[in-house]
Amino acid sequence: ESFQDVDMGEIVMGNIALSRYTRPTPVQKYAIPIVKAKRDLMACAQTGSGKTAAFLLPILSQIYTDGPGEALNAAKASGQVNNKSKPLNKGTLTVMCHEESFSYRSRVRPCVVYGGADIGQQIRDLERGCHLLVATPGRLVDMMERGKIGLDYCNYLVLDEADRMLDMGFEPQIRRIVEQDTMPHKGIRQTMMFSATFPKEIQILARDFLEEYIFLAV
Ligand code: AMP
Repeated sequence: ESFQDVDMGEIVMGNIALSRYTRPTPVQKYAIPIVKAKRDLMACAQTGSGKTAAFLLPILSQIYTDGPGEALNAAKASGQVNNKSKPLNKGTLTVMCHEESFSYRSRVRPCVVYGGADIGQQIRDLERGCHLLVATPGRLVDMMERGKIGLDYCNYLVLDEADRMLDMGFEPQIRRIVEQDTMPHKGIRQTMMFSATFPKEIQILARDFLEEYIFLAV
C-alpha cells in the first residue's frame, strides 16, 4: 500500500512526497484508482477517513493532465466549510496549498463560496477566475441566481457529506444545482458522492446523479 501504486503525475506525486502523508488511508487506497479511471463513485466513508484527499488528489491529477475545467464540490455545512476550505489555500497537503504550485506550475485556482460570510468578497474572488470551487448548496444557488457562477464547464462534481446536506434540508438546492440545464449531464461530467450512511434518500440521489457507479464502503 503506497501512494506510488497509482501515478497521479509529477505535480501531485511530488507534493505527496513533500507532505506528511506516508501511506494512503483505506478510502484513498480504493477510491483513487476508481476516480483516476473516470468512474462515478458512491463512497460510504466517515469524516476523518481521509476522504477529502481521496477525491481531490485524483481530480487535481486529472486537471493537471487535461487542463483546468472546473471542479465543483457542492458540499459541506457552512460551519464546516471554514476549516475545510483552508487546506485549499494554506492547509496540510502541499499539493493544495503551495502558492507556487497554483500560480506558476498548475494555474489551478480554488475558490470557496459559503453562507454566513460577505458575498461581495466571494464574488470579487470568483471574478479573478476559479477552476475548483468548494461551495455550500444555499450560497451556490444564490451565486447562480446572481449570474456569478455558471456550471457549463463543470467536469467534476463531488457531493461530500451528502447525508449531512440532506439532514440540513438542502435537497431542493442540491437538485437545483445538479439538475440545471447548463450542468453537463451525468455520464459526461464525472460525479462522486460521499456519505457516512447510505439510507434510502441517498440511494435515490445516487441513482439520479451517478452513471454506472461503483459503490465503495470502508
Ligand atoms: P478527512 O477525512 O478528509 O476530513 O481527513 C481527515 C484528516 O486526515 C485531515 O486532517 C487530513 O489532512 C488527514 N489525512 C488524510 N489523508 C491522510 C494520509 N494519507 N496520511 C495522513 N493523514 C491524512
